[in-house]
Amino acid sequence: MTALARLNEVLKWLNGDFDEFSFPDASTAPLAKGGRIKLEPYRVFTNPGVIRSMLARFIASFDGSVDVGFVSAADDEGPPLDDDALGDLRSRLHILLQCGFDGPKDAFADGFDGWPAPTLRFMVRSAGRKRPGWRLSKQGNHVRVGGRQAKDAHQARGAYVLHAMGSTADLMPFLLAHLLTQRDMVAVRRCKRRLCDRFVVIDVNKRGRRREYCRPSCIDLDKEEEAYRKAREKTNKRGTG
Ligand SMILES: [Zn+2]
Repeated sequence: MTALARLNEVLKWLNGDFDEFSFPDASTAPLAKGGRIKLEPYRVFTNPGVIRSMLARFIASFDGSVDVGFVSAADDEGPPLDDDALGDLRSRLHILLQCGFDGPKDAFADGFDGWPAPTLRFMVRSAGRKRPGWRLSKQGNHVRVGGRQAKDAHQARGAYVLHAMGSTADLMPFLLAHLLTQRDMVAVRRCKRRLCDRFVVIDVNKRGRRREYCRPSCIDLDKEEEAYRKAREKTNKRGTG
């Protein structure tokens, strides 16, 4: 599982993909030209059990491998998050990601200098690498078992693993922030529509035009908003001129 695939699961939550909507009985909707008026959902519900198991999977997937930047993690503090705590965590992760998109002068990064994580603890662990041994060649020379490859593998990054422990609420921002420093993260974008707060993951290996909007309805809304903005500019000009 790549770093991006791990991040994608959390993004689904932040994007509201786990939300379930309850709609009022459509047969009671007022009649309008061309049919009944489309009703807005009256309740948005997110199954906390689904979110909790997604978070548990995400944390457990930090196994010290190269894909997660040599971090392993265990949530070993406090009870599972309740609805309020899940809501808080969702906002925090959202802010964390938004900060990543903003330049130093932008509103999000300005005045925000991180959250304390009181239960977070960390230590280092050895990955337990064994130095490749030597053997005698037919010619009677000492040669390394596994050759150059074995030597490189032994010396590569990840001989030590950063092990992080704490509550889910404290671990999540830490792990997400660390994950964002891994490869392929340029694939994460903000939806191009100004008022949309959803994130888009693009396929960086695909040629051609890249996805800019989170969903087709945002493309339409963006067009409408742009037209509205232009129309307003026109009337404002007329008013002052
Ligand atoms: Zn959007």
